[in-house]
Amino acid sequence: MTTTPRELSCADDYDPNSMPVERARNFIASLLAPIAGSERLHLRAALGRVLATDLVSPIDVPGHDNSAMDGWAYRHADTHGTEGTTPMRRVGESFAGKPWLGTPGRGECVRIFTGAVMPAGCDTVAMQERVSVDGDAIHIPNGQPAGQNRRFRGEDLKAGAVAVTAGTLITPAVLGLIASLGIGEIDVYRKLRVAFFSTGDELRTIGSTLGPGEIYDSNRYTLYGLLERAGCQPIDLGNVVDDPAAIRAAFTAAAAQADVIITSGGVSVGEADFIKQMLDEMGEVLFWKIAMRPGRPLAVGRIGSAMFFGLPGNPVSVTVTFYQFVRSALATLQGRRDHQMPPTVRARLSHPLRKVAGRTEYQRGVLRLGEHGYEVRTTGDQGSGILSSMVQANGFVVLAAETGNLDAGSEVDVQMFEGVI
Ligand code: AMP
Ligand code: MG
Repeated sequence: MTTTPRELSCADDYDPNSMPVERARNFIASLLAPIAGSERLHLRAALGRVLATDLVSPIDVPGHDNSAMDGWAYRHADTHGTEGTTPMRRVGESFAGKPWLGTPGRGECVRIFTGAVMPAGCDTVAMQERVSVDGDAIHIPNGQPAGQNRRFRGEDLKAGAVAVTAGTLITPAVLGLIASLGIGEIDVYRKLRVAFFSTGDELRTIGSTLGPGEIYDSNRYTLYGLLERAGCQPIDLGNVVDDPAAIRAAFTAAAAQADVIITSGGVSVGEADFIKQMLDEMGEVLFWKIAMRPGRPLAVGRIGSAMFFGLPGNPVSVTVTFYQFVRSALATLQGRRDHQMPPTVRARLSHPLRKVAGRTEYQRGVLRLGEHGYEVRTTGDQGSGILSSMVQANGFVVLAAETGNLDAGSEVDVQMFEGVI
């Protein structure tokens, strides 16, 4: 960690009662350093993990010049001009995995199949559709560009070169590339341990009967899902009553076993007071009111050596703040160097939209491809407790702080849920 929240809070003149989203993102980014510690895994087990060391290719891929087509391999210099064909003599066949080992002489060609090694001296392949065959007399078209349909040795990867850099997420494409090098085990960062708990006297766990005014704790399930999808190891510490001693015990337990601690609830005005006091003793934590809707209160900092994110209690706010702030932070801590926010899609509003200027809003939207491009509608009631709106939606309609009411047909950005929520 390069700067502590306290240093920054003094050095920086931000207003904790109205922190712009982008500012908060940058601030959080300044607090992060990737975890140390890696493990060696079989290739398949490494899917979704982050490469810990640069991977150097031990071989050229492909290992030989080879054909990109089924056709006929020949020496380009043996053809003439741009019109007609040159008759050549078939002298052999080169199959993928079964090369023809001879060297064709002048005016000789070799039947070749996709992926088969180019015979010595041949530099060009005519695709079979363009060649007429009359016994052993093969009519090769003139005027093909030299080198046509030839793949070069090492054109994908060169021996000794870095094939995959440390910090790369292991995707299916990366698995394939590493397998193409003949490498079966790789070093990945260990999983990020993320402890989380909910706070609130009103919360009950699934399986218990609700008393008056009580609700089931849904945030822990949402967070579990978000963390699993983000490739972390979730550590569920249950729900905790609004009592300083209980919350202190939960933070102590979390800090002892996790790299990151996430809580939901308890950071709004009033509730935050005693948590603030306690966290001042245990670590360095800042409380912000982000200029966004939903998801206004947010606490960020460190408790012991763990990063801490105190999310609001409202179920929709939990997901919005996770998406906007926590996910990228987790990626950096996991060792990712290529991480970006999920892509946004430009879409036209299907209906007018009401918005008060001043805060960034993340309305729940349903994006679909219409006849004239992407269209988006919002999911009705945008209350931050309405979980069903999150389920119907497939993205957040992002409305910048300065934006006011919008007409139907206005263009807006939609952050897609795909792969995250
Ligand atoms: P708070 O941020 O603690 O003031 O909570 C804001 C709202 O979210 C209240 O209506 C809480 O009952 C609700 N809430 C808080 N935590 C949870 C949770 N874990 N699951 C479902 N709702 C919650
Ligand atoms: Mg609460």
